[in-house]
Amino acid sequence: MKVRSIRGFHDILPEDIGRWHHIEELAKNLFELYGYSEIRIPALEFTEVFARGLGTSSDIVEKEMYTFTDRDGSSLTLRPEGTAGVVRAYIENSMYTKTPQSKLYYTGMMFRHERPQKGRYRGFYQIGAELFGADAPESDAELIAMNHNFFGSIGLSGSVTLELSSLGDGECKPAYKSMLTDYFNGHKDRLCEDCQRRLGTNPLRILDCKQKTCIEISKDAPKMLDNLCESCTEHFGRVKDSLDSIGVPYEINPKIVRGLDYYTRTVFEFTTDQLGAQNAVAAGGRYDGLVKELGGPETPAVGFAMGIERIVLLHQQVVPEGFGRRVDIYIAYLGDEARNAAFSLAHELRSAGARVGADYGGKSLKSQMKRADKSGARYTIIIGEDELSRGVVKLRDMEKSSEDEIALDLKSQP
Ligand code: ATP
Ligand code: MG
Repeated sequence: MKVRSIRGFHDILPEDIGRWHHIEELAKNLFELYGYSEIRIPALEFTEVFARGLGTSSDIVEKEMYTFTDRDGSSLTLRPEGTAGVVRAYIENSMYTKTPQSKLYYTGMMFRHERPQKGRYRGFYQIGAELFGADAPESDAELIAMNHNFFGSIGLSGSVTLELSSLGDGECKPAYKSMLTDYFNGHKDRLCEDCQRRLGTNPLRILDCKQKTCIEISKDAPKMLDNLCESCTEHFGRVKDSLDSIGVPYEINPKIVRGLDYYTRTVFEFTTDQLGAQNAVAAGGRYDGLVKELGGPETPAVGFAMGIERIVLLHQQVVPEGFGRRVDIYIAYLGDEARNAAFSLAHELRSAGARVGADYGGKSLKSQMKRADKSGARYTIIIGEDELSRGVVKLRDMEKSSEDEIALDLKSQP
């Protein structure tokens, strides 16, 4: 029997990796432009980092975590997202004592036990950014603009929409929660089983339910945006004004609740209508309470995470070609002596920085040319015995299908 991978986990193959690198590099370069540095955090944490960080009533903690008991009896969890681990690292390394603000980004694999489908996996990659120590609404706007510019830089600004809302803070959120509880209590019998339970734990989560009747009932529910306190209204106003001032377009969507409990004030999502049901490609917001919740000092923070697989899927639709080239020059040869020359030339060209393909299996020229074609090489150098003795090689331009003879004295090579 052949071995196989775990359901919901997938390989990223060499033919696709060029696109991944392209996307990841653009993100990293852009984030560094804004002053962010990479942080690498473990894939495994004590379960409480996520349970306390994300909130026990969040979907992730309730039903999506890969949790197991370590040999010493402690409960460990494979990270389902990056923020809680970054916050843990921020606190553990006392980063707040080093600089007034910390700007961190991360990338890596996340693990969630959900139902696999297109754009939804159990093991998937995220790139995310977190800004600690800034409470000004302009900081929210700057972070959102950075995310917006990322989509612009990979040619996807026309494919995504920025949706924006505010969830209020410690002052107005609790009052809103009890308004919601009252409202949903009036419709309790028609709510799904999950939502009946959420009514007692976190009524906000009902607004995010995908069941038809729950969506219907939610339509007339009171909205957080109509119930913000004065300071949250002002904060949200300045976020919008800042985005307006630099021309970042957005739509207000008062129904964004976000899956995690830690969000306060600004929340946003970048969505697309080109990926079917999996419409969120990036999401984030402000989480002023989380650092304290995990044992650090009171620290305002704002961040986001993007799903790389979904961005790759979208990017494939919009920019289908141009990421397969792995080789610049292919070297084909005829005969034993030419093979030795090919071997040395490949070495020399690579030392000079060219990506060179060649194989020394003694195949026919025809089959070598096929391989050259498949490799995506722009040029093929063909070394024949006759050319070798004359100190020349053939240079074939694979795009133009034209051939030239060029002088290249390979006999002097060892
Ligand atoms: P969804 O509503 O699609 O489940 P989410 O709210 O759970 O998304 P977040 O926790 O905000 O997602 O994660 C940020 C981003 O990570 C999402 O916008 C999405 O692009 C990506 N993402 C989340 N879960 C998955 C998954 N299971 N597979 C692939 N990408 C994912
Ligand atoms: Mg989810």
